[in-house]
Amino acid sequence: MLLLDEELYGDGETEGLAPYCRAVAEADAPLSAEDTRGVPVRDGDGRTRGALCVGGTAPREWSEADREALEALAAAAATEVACRRAEAALARERDFGVQVMSALGQGIAVLERDGRVEYANPSLLRMLAAEPSWLAGQPLWARAEDGAALEAIHTRALAGERSGGEVRLTREDGETLHAYTAGAPRLGPDGAVVGTLVTVSNMTGRRQAEQARSEADDRFRRLSEASEEGIVIHDAGTVLDANRAAAHIFGFGDARELLGRPLFESIAPESREIARRHLASGTPDPLDVSGLRRDGTRFPVQLRERPIVHGGRTARVVAVRDLSEQHVVERLKDEFVSVVSHELRTPLTSLRGSLGLLASGRLNNHQAQRMLEVAVQNTDRLVRLINDILDVERIGSGQVAMEMRPAAAAALVEHAVAAVRGMAEKSRTRIVASAGKVQVRADADRIVQVLVNLLSNAIKFSPPGSRVRVSVETSGAEAVFSLADEGRGIPADKLESIFERFGQVDASDARKLGGTGLGLAICRGILQQHGGRIWVESVPGTGSTFFFTLPLDDSS
Ligand code: ADP
Repeated sequence: MLLLDEELYGDGETEGLAPYCRAVAEADAPLSAEDTRGVPVRDGDGRTRGALCVGGTAPREWSEADREALEALAAAAATEVACRRAEAALARERDFGVQVMSALGQGIAVLERDGRVEYANPSLLRMLAAEPSWLAGQPLWARAEDGAALEAIHTRALAGERSGGEVRLTREDGETLHAYTAGAPRLGPDGAVVGTLVTVSNMTGRRQAEQARSEADDRFRRLSEASEEGIVIHDAGTVLDANRAAAHIFGFGDARELLGRPLFESIAPESREIARRHLASGTPDPLDVSGLRRDGTRFPVQLRERPIVHGGRTARVVAVRDLSEQHVVERLKDEFVSVVSHELRTPLTSLRGSLGLLASGRLNNHQAQRMLEVAVQNTDRLVRLINDILDVERIGSGQVAMEMRPAAAAALVEHAVAAVRGMAEKSRTRIVASAGKVQVRADADRIVQVLVNLLSNAIKFSPPGSRVRVSVETSGAEAVFSLADEGRGIPADKLESIFERFGQVDASDARKLGGTGLGLAICRGILQQHGGRIWVESVPGTGSTFFFTLPLDDSS
């Protein structure tokens, strides 16, 4: 029987030896009595841990050799028991480790040196939707889409290093698991690296959320890039993001150049405080201020704070509109109104003067007749002006629909020449026309109106007895009309401006020669509606040639 650390080891037959074992252990010395002998059991440090006793059936001499044999047996028994105990403790410990690993939400794999999966905890199996057998017998990286990354983590762990990274693992159902995987060396009892401990954290949910957010960001970016309106996202005035339109408005080539800059640097210094207070107030009302482009030029700009949800949070967004064009249009309108009222007032004042004199009753017959003629002339001029003003407005704004039909250029020219015949005869101007067989697509009445206007100008601004040549040629898909006169010509700096409303070479031209200064503007409007162009070439003192184009008729 063996007594070790207060515990008895033996069977039913040796049961009776228990008191003897205790006595030997207490005495801490070999004892013998008749058929029973016992020796103390000592551990490696020489401390007594118990006793080993044997019992015989007959009394025997307790020789020295017996005692030594028994002591050797006792030492072997002590070693054996110590070993068993250590193993039991190890098993308990391992069991404890497995329990902990099972309880963890994080995936854990224990890899052998060659990378094979020795153990995978339930969380990892759940993440991979896998049975333990699916992982067994092969390296973990055989189950990864980017196996090299995982193998590198394992190799580093074998070299004693911890490392980690994002890895895409393949689940048993074929889906991808985005995971953060970390590897650490797994040590054996002697401290040597025997494999790798791998932890796996599921990132699929986070990945999906990130992807959804980046898609939303993408959509937002595409929208804002397509916007004509400038959009600036800022934090306390510092630009965090801006679209192309905003960069363009503030004179930058690229939106990235705006990032990190104070928004208010793009506002004229005198407007900065107002702009800052307005935007801080959070009002949705727009504010018109003076903007400052990168090159230092100023321009009218409108700012409007618009809170929007960007990247999952509410951002401070300013919508930016360049008002330059609007201001130009408003100025042109104002100018037009003032010119129109001046142009209308001049004949009206003259008319009023003539009628006033007639009404005074102090004019003789001849004088009264002269005054009536002046009144009629001014009334005609007023009617022409009002008609032209209405025409230029309606054609310019596209309100007059052009009735495009096939038409022979020769017929259009003929019509126009007939309309100015009286005027031409009066100034003895000879009109020479050659239009060939060119067919165009056009609103015939409107093109005749253009030709009449150009012919009457040619007659008006040429000396009596001169010649006007009209011709039509084709060029590509277009017909090119030309009207060449031998008149006074047009100075180079007026070649463009005469096509503007009330644009004249000489301010007195219209009144002296009965024009309105709107004829060429109307012609340009009509031709633009046809998809054509109009321009003039001229040598002052020698003559001018007006050109315009129309689409050829391709229906025949
Ligand atoms: P207007 O009613 O004054 O003729 P237009 O718009 O037709 O108005 O012409 C504008 C101005 O262009 C004229 O006032 C004149 O100064 C100049 N112009 C037009 N046609 C000719 C031409 N054939 N030769 C010289 N100047 C011309």
